[in-house]
Amino acid sequence: MNIPLSVPNLSLDILNNIKECIETGWVSTGGRFINEFENKIADYIGIEEAVGVQSGTAALHLAYQLLGVGPGDEVIAPTVTFIAAINPITYLGAKPIFMDCDDSLNMDLDKLDEFLSSQCEITPSGTKNKKTGKIIKAICVVHVFGNPIDMARVMEIAQKYKLKVVEDATEALGSFYTKGKYKGKHAGTIGDIGIYSFNANKILTTGGGGMIVSSDNDLLEKARFLSVQAKTDPLYFKHDDIGYNYRLTNIAAAFGTEQIDKLEEFVEIKKRNYNLYQEIINKIDGLELLAFNKGTRPNYWFYSLIVDKDKYGINRDKLLCELNEVGIQARPLWGLISRQKPYQDCEAYKINKAKYYVDNLLNIPCSTNLTKEEVCQVVDKLKSFRAKGD
Ligand SMILES: *Cc1c(COP(=O)(O)O)cnc(C)c1O
Repeated sequence: MNIPLSVPNLSLDILNNIKECIETGWVSTGGRFINEFENKIADYIGIEEAVGVQSGTAALHLAYQLLGVGPGDEVIAPTVTFIAAINPITYLGAKPIFMDCDDSLNMDLDKLDEFLSSQCEITPSGTKNKKTGKIIKAICVVHVFGNPIDMARVMEIAQKYKLKVVEDATEALGSFYTKGKYKGKHAGTIGDIGIYSFNANKILTTGGGGMIVSSDNDLLEKARFLSVQAKTDPLYFKHDDIGYNYRLTNIAAAFGTEQIDKLEEFVEIKKRNYNLYQEIINKIDGLELLAFNKGTRPNYWFYSLIVDKDKYGINRDKLLCELNEVGIQARPLWGLISRQKPYQDCEAYKINKAKYYVDNLLNIPCSTNLTKEEVCQVVDKLKSFRAKGD
């Protein structure tokens, strides 16, 4: 058996686009596919404009910078996330303050509110962390595994404390709200800046790539400017600012324009497989598949299995080994960022639930080319390993 965790679902149709890149010589950071891909993403998520860059990490770096995060500032961020959401805070000389997750794996907004009201004070120059005396400039929220966080609550808190919101939707392209204040709005389009990623394990891929969105077109213009070395005059190489080589390439975008047309189909397959898994897994004593939030249409990007060792018989790590041994690729949750070597001395506020999930959660195969038969093979193994534990 060989069932990978999450692999790209690519079509050879992309070759037509790549052929055009080769024939026209437009292989780098200029060319028609870049704009076309930006427009298609913008249309899909229902906004005016998007800026393509070379990775989600690059997009996050620009986002924090454009929202004014700089040396000596602090940024509130989740401890449960991929580290790429956090590292750019450090690139800018600022420090993260880590928040716990709730049972959706997203940031615990009660704790966030509690932290801000008990540990911080609102001053004329912004919200100040009483312990460090530093200004908290922004908050980064991640829609973990494609599960939309309650953005209405996030924005309410952010407004109260005058915090900018970086909305890391790198895992949540295709997720939107079906109820509440933001009904019809896509994850990534609500905060001050939203971020998508097209890395190979995301729901759609360009090999490597990212997108920045915002309702503030000035910010997007600045993002585009900084992504091409901040060139003020294209002919005489005049630079009035320090930029980056972050622009999306035409080759990557050539993948994107084809992939985005499949996005709804991909979500459908992920949803079908999720439901199939859930039906059987919830009948296996000791295993539970985490639900996606109500009032949303998630993109079902990653499936999270929770292993109750006492009821299931074996613990998460043993199950992980057993699965990998029979050729079913699974992985644990990311190591908490507040425990990673570069971040151990950063402030972390009452991290508690995250520790439970880091020890007991397992992601199981979820590719968009995963067949029903393969889902059944995975759950058969999950059943048989339980028997083993008895
Ligand atoms: C994938 C991911 C990123 C980074 O995207 P890249 O395109 O790989 O740089 C950032 N944040 C989260 C939560 C991610 O999952």
